[in-house]
Amino acid sequence: MALIVHKYGGTSMGSPERIKNVAKRVAKWHDAGHQIVVVPSAMSGETNRLLGLAKEITAQPDPRELDMLASTGEQASVALLAMALQAIGKQAVSYAGWQVAIKTDSAHTKARIRSIDDTKVRQDLDAGKVVIITGFQGIDELGNITTLGRGGSDTSAVAVAAALQAAECLIYTDVDGVYTTDPRVVSDARRLKTVTFEEMLEMASLGSKVLQIRSVEFAGNYKMPTRVLSSLTDPLMPLEEEAISGTLISFEEDTKMEQATITGIAFNRDETKITVLGVPDRPGIAYQILGAVADANIEVDMIIQNQSVDGKTDFTFTVPRGEYTKAMAVLNEKVKTHIGAANITGDAKVSKVSVVGVGMRSHVGIASQMFRTLSEEGINIQMISTSEIKISVLIDEKYMELAVRALHKAFGLESA
Ligand code: ADP
Ligand code: ASP
Ligand code: MG
Repeated sequence: MALIVHKYGGTSMGSPERIKNVAKRVAKWHDAGHQIVVVPSAMSGETNRLLGLAKEITAQPDPRELDMLASTGEQASVALLAMALQAIGKQAVSYAGWQVAIKTDSAHTKARIRSIDDTKVRQDLDAGKVVIITGFQGIDELGNITTLGRGGSDTSAVAVAAALQAAECLIYTDVDGVYTTDPRVVSDARRLKTVTFEEMLEMASLGSKVLQIRSVEFAGNYKMPTRVLSSLTDPLMPLEEEAISGTLISFEEDTKMEQATITGIAFNRDETKITVLGVPDRPGIAYQILGAVADANIEVDMIIQNQSVDGKTDFTFTVPRGEYTKAMAVLNEKVKTHIGAANITGDAKVSKVSVVGVGMRSHVGIASQMFRTLSEEGINIQMISTSEIKISVLIDEKYMELAVRALHKAFGLESA
């Protein structure tokens, strides 16, 4: 008997029929003698619907109220799943994040989990109940409901698994594992049986939305065995078969050294590029520009400073598309005249494409192969950034899918 956490995403919870299937699957695991905690997302489309309503009311909704609103999606799905389990004879109880409690900081719409109280959950499990906890949300010190950022139910699930010292966290979704790239973009992408924790961290941070990055960080920090698998298979398929399906995130660093140089290709459509032109090239200038952006709680990703000409330089960096307007406003209001910049320009239509693989450590020539492939397709590279196990390029968004397909082929990642 083991304690196992299941997470079901929006598609998996997308209709009453699907919720009944989730209940059957969970009941199968419970019948096998395991203690099960389930962390579901809102039904597919529901979070978008709620956030869309907010936008119809006002262009700049108050983040606290957005969290109040968005958190209701998950509250509905936990209750429905509890009913579905009870309807097939299982004892089940649902909790909102604040009832557990899952405590977070106060960064509304992108809060971080600080602690999880496991008392109530353990009591229910010991009493034979399936415990269902809302994904995506928590409560801050002042009692405000917070949410963890889009895709945050993954993080809730892994954090709950870590707090309960679960044997495994199973992330059930609408694909049957982690692929070499998004199978919606490259139809012959290949499923990976295992992916190293480091690679998964890079892929998630570079835009592979199959797992929210913070969930991967939790998995790494707590060495939580985490598996991504399909919720769309027969819910009554043999448990032994299901338990080894999908993709396991592995913590063994060296197992893949001799395998392919590149493990996967990640992309992020939603990038923007900002250039601050003609700033005086003196100590502290990077801090003045990027510090102001960071103080507005905006994440900066790639950064380039041009060579200085006549004591002046240009500064280019990327921010997520959702933060573009805010970043431009901060720079125009607080930075431009203050530092004496000539101008600030932006491009809101750029995307980032990255190749990832621990094999890069022991192979040379990956960058040149990547750049050659893009040049053969006539794609201009605007910015480049690298780490030990990834190379990212920023390109015009209209070439993003072309770039992903060409690189997937060039690195031989397609299924046999
Ligand atoms: P859920 O609602 O279950 O959380 P998501 O939509 O957040 O599901 O994540 C699953 C989706 O992630 C898949 O449908 C797929 O299109 C996308 N995806 C992106 N990159 C990958 C990848 N490398 N492997 C698998 N799926 C990926
Ligand atoms: N429902 C939230 C979202 O759509 C959280 C999640 O699904 O993980 O982002
Ligand atoms: Mg998701």
